[in-house]
Amino acid sequence: MLEAFIENHVLNQILRQAKHVLDAEQRVNDMKVKQEFAYYSLNKAEKAFESLTNQQLELLKPLVSIKNEADFNHYKDSLEPYCIPFQPTTDAQLKKLFKKAKKLHPPHLTPDDFLHLTYLSWYDKGSMKKFIVRELEGSVKGLSGSFVPSPQNGICHFCHHMGAVGLFTVDVKTDTKNHNYKALSNYICQDEANCNAHITDTEKLDFLFDYVRGK
Ligand SMILES: [Zn+2]
Repeated sequence: MLEAFIENHVLNQILRQAKHVLDAEQRVNDMKVKQEFAYYSLNKAEKAFESLTNQQLELLKPLVSIKNEADFNHYKDSLEPYCIPFQPTTDAQLKKLFKKAKKLHPPHLTPDDFLHLTYLSWYDKGSMKKFIVRELEGSVKGLSGSFVPSPQNGICHFCHHMGAVGLFTVDVKTDTKNHNYKALSNYICQDEANCNAHITDTEKLDFLFDYVRGK
């Protein structure tokens, strides 16, 4: 049996391509153009990986023959067993990540929810803070910052999707002695589940983690 090899954001990327194939199927008349577009989309899906074995490639290939919604769903289901789940975190682990927080209220997620997470996150109304947890290089890392929901829709810095956002600000100590901080603010999704369903690359998210670690 093939091991899980598809990260959540990569799955989102593949499914975005699959959706394009489905759209083209419904909008384009020319058979040749359709087919070329389907292979172009497969190529883009493959590029989401650094490398692929033949077996893994075979699994992605049916993307080119998506003709209707049922095909799309079938394709999606076929990838499901190969998705890398987010490792469920324990309360003790989270406490260790956020030592300064008095009380943590992480969401109670089902094992299914953990299947499709690029990052674990929750908003704490009391402290008006958003907490973000990510697995990096085999260990869990956390960061938190203030979060002010925005009255207008905007584009999320992480998933580049238009929707309900808020201003997320992290403060980084630059000089402990003089209590100097540098702040970094970005608009990100209010709804973490929505963001995890749309994120197709982790560049912005990873940058933030590097930033708070002073890299
Ligand atoms: Zn987002």
